[in-house]
Amino acid sequence: MTAGITRICILGGGTAGWMTAAALSRKFKNLGLDLTLIESDQIGTVGVGEATLPHIRFFNQALGIDEPAFMKATEATFKLGIEFCDWGKLGDRYIHPFGDYGLPIDGLDFHQFWLKLRQAEGADRLDAYSYPVLAAERGRFKVPDGNIDQIGSNFGYAYQFDAGLYAGFLRTYSEERGVKRQEGKVADAELDPNSGHIAAVRLEDGSRVEADLFVDCSGFRGLLIEQALETGYDDWSEWLPCNRAVAVPCEANGELVPYTRATARKAGWQWRIPLQHRTGNGHVYWSEFISDDEAAHQLTSTLEGPALAEPKKLFFKTGRRRKFWNRNVVCIGLSAGFLEPLESTSIHLIQEGITTLVELFPKDRIDPLDAEEYNERMGLNFERVRDFLLLHYVATQRDDSAMWRHFRELTVPDSLQEKIDAWLTRGYVLKYEFGVFLPPSWIAVMLGQNLTPAHHDPRVGRYSIEDIRDRLERIRQETARAVDVTPTQAAFLQRYGAASGTSLRAAQP
Ligand SMILES: Cc1cc2nc3c(=O)[nH]c(=O)nc-3n(C[C@H](O)[C@H](O)[C@H](O)COP(=O)(O)OP(=O)(O)OC[C@H]3O[C@@H](n4cnc5c(N)ncnc54)[C@H](O)[C@@H]3O)c2cc1C
Repeated sequence: MTAGITRICILGGGTAGWMTAAALSRKFKNLGLDLTLIESDQIGTVGVGEATLPHIRFFNQALGIDEPAFMKATEATFKLGIEFCDWGKLGDRYIHPFGDYGLPIDGLDFHQFWLKLRQAEGADRLDAYSYPVLAAERGRFKVPDGNIDQIGSNFGYAYQFDAGLYAGFLRTYSEERGVKRQEGKVADAELDPNSGHIAAVRLEDGSRVEADLFVDCSGFRGLLIEQALETGYDDWSEWLPCNRAVAVPCEANGELVPYTRATARKAGWQWRIPLQHRTGNGHVYWSEFISDDEAAHQLTSTLEGPALAEPKKLFFKTGRRRKFWNRNVVCIGLSAGFLEPLESTSIHLIQEGITTLVELFPKDRIDPLDAEEYNERMGLNFERVRDFLLLHYVATQRDDSAMWRHFRELTVPDSLQEKIDAWLTRGYVLKYEFGVFLPPSWIAVMLGQNLTPAHHDPRVGRYSIEDIRDRLERIRQETARAVDVTPTQAAFLQRYGAASGTSLRAAQP
């Protein structure tokens, strides 16, 4: 090994590999790191992963990426949230928006006032006080102006993009900053007999790549973290048992709505992700309750336009690697674990993995304490996501298929049960240490799936119903007015310089 940690080898050129390469080349540009990324065109990438969370904007911003240029290059659309159909009951629908409901009143959460009004005399749906929900429903979008105390600006947004184009975009970015790309198939790894660290990887053509630190972005196979180091995997199928997916892009003939859709099915759920040039579709399912053929048929028979490729089958086991950082290997992406894409969290977990690695980046030697800290933080991030995903399955009144009956009987982890109990008693969202989803996200899903609190926060007791009614009405009107003056997403993309040239069709206002 050389003095210090200077030679970094990233194995894999999917979204995880190129995001890692881009971030390390930018963040450590003055350290003179020797960064090599190995990927195999013959193996290819997983080829899915199009919907994101708002945090990705901060990742791109930290790299100094120009938003319109990135959107044009990746055929991206804006995303204000996710629409969930048929989850609580057949026929239900709600949007999980990226943003708050209303505005706090005297420092108290807005939804508590809404709960009191609702309990006293009924109230409009909470969505009537959410700018991102109303804008999404009407196909409208503009970037917020940064004034987070203002209705029409207190929301976040994410992207829906072509993951292959995003990886290509970041490849150009990384190569311009000195990352060396090596094409080839890694055959195996050489372990240092003293430390047990990986000393080098050997490629099928006989070449070797040595490094001080390896980042395993090799996808589900976990070539270094699992096949070489046998780190182990915690299987979470008992909570998230969906284990297969079939994905197919189709021609976009629908409107260009700024949200992803997740529709519950009898043995899983189906996604729809509108990009500028096409629509991404997929069906995630539990193979115990539906055959592959039937799952594929359910998907292809509900496409909005002609399919643009053969349906692609994917197999997975939900869970997480027992250690994300083991010896001199850090795994990021699918090699670190997989939780189904219901809330678009995988790319976010990649981003968390990268930012945590940058924070704890080893200078002179691999310190087990850094690895311990990394493992602790990433473990919590995975657990929080698991609980939030599971909430969608267990907060259901559906009993029309074996899968839904299974979830109604399931005992959930204590961390999730505590959260549900606190909500049901007084509309309180227990705060987690770590975890990407903040209270408005939990409120959206719990209310959207018909978990209604019995009481409200006692502190809103001192406000009269008339006072609450007046305050809420003002916010409702202000929200509606803010949406009225928002352009359609198609118009905004054109004006913003983010339209790719594909003819964009606006959603019906
Ligand atoms: C059904 C499904 C839907 C998804 N939807 C979303 C979504 O909407 N949003 C989201 O955030 N995430 C989603 N994900 C997750 C997302 O696809 C991944 O997190 C993301 O694509 C990162 O994948 P990766 O880079 O880890 O792996 P991969 O894309 O599999 O890349 C692995 C890389 O390793 C290389 N490699 C492997 N073995 C070798 C070898 N022996 N030698 C050389 N190179 C090798 C491959 O060539 C490839 O470049 C979804 C996943 C699935 C399965």
